[in-house]
Amino acid sequence: MYDYDLLVVGSANADLVIGVERRPAAGETVLGSDLAVHPGGKGANQAVAAARLGARTALLARVGDDAHGRLLLDSLRAAGADPAGVLAGGAPTGVALITVDPSGDNSIVVSPGANGRLTPDDVRAAAPLIGSARVVSAQLEIPLESVVEAVRHLAPGSRFVLNPSPPRPLPQELLDACDPLIVNEHEAKVILGEDGAGDAPEDWARALLARGPRSVVVTLGGEGALVASAQGVSRVPSVRVDAVDTTGAGDAFTAALAWRLGAGASLPEAAAYAARVGAAAVTRRGAQESYPTAAEVDALGP
Ligand code: ATP
Repeated sequence: MYDYDLLVVGSANADLVIGVERRPAAGETVLGSDLAVHPGGKGANQAVAAARLGARTALLARVGDDAHGRLLLDSLRAAGADPAGVLAGGAPTGVALITVDPSGDNSIVVSPGANGRLTPDDVRAAAPLIGSARVVSAQLEIPLESVVEAVRHLAPGSRFVLNPSPPRPLPQELLDACDPLIVNEHEAKVILGEDGAGDAPEDWARALLARGPRSVVVTLGGEGALVASAQGVSRVPSVRVDAVDTTGAGDAFTAALAWRLGAGASLPEAAAYAARVGAAAVTRRGAQESYPTAAEVDALGP
């Protein structure tokens, strides 16, 4: 009935990374390592993560008609994701300029570029694609009104998953569509505002649930995650691994969770699987390059 297990609506960026001894101060020039260019952006990351696990996946996004755009399309195809919904042109491909010092601290400048030009009209024109997916997931690196437009075209019986990153206050229509809303601590606090947060992740989850989503997931890095719905609140333990690089772990977690929910898993089951995917992703460097296959996830335990 559905052509895709997962449609990701979101961003695609080229991550331009230079290692430096010291990050430059204002007016200063420093020499760095050779430039490394990686496919990234939360939307493209999620699509690659799901496709690598074996999900029938498509991405609705906008890139520039340029070399970075082609790099992103190549990465999607290599993972087995369908790039038919990736529009090209209107602005250069989004870029993240990243300098990393030897301690691993980084400074990042993001140019949203074409991501900022994925308009509600683009989303409306992609209504057949949205309506052909069992699960639709989104983040907030594209215009908020375009994400809101996407939830208006969901197929009957399908499911919408949102990772509100970068976080901002969300309109009620979007909150009501989420099943689940997936946040880390920072995102939870921004959405709840200063007064609404409380101290424990359980408090944030309950407070977010009261705002409208049918379910909530709070990711806790090496501590795992927490799921909340009308059935209650429960902890999902993390899988012990030697973490090398946590870049993009949240995107892999979200993609895996969305896919398993669509396949009929309960929220705690899907989150436990996603925690294994997130754990596998932190054992390797990079974002998309670090994402596991289903066989690699299974090797981490039941
Ligand atoms: P991102 O930095 O990608 O935005 P995030 O803050 O949204 O990430 P995290 O909580 O860092 O998301 O990671 C998502 C999930 O990946 C966690 O809930 C956990 O299951 C898994 N994970 C992350 N870090 C580790 C770790 N060090 N060891 C084991 N699992 C981890």
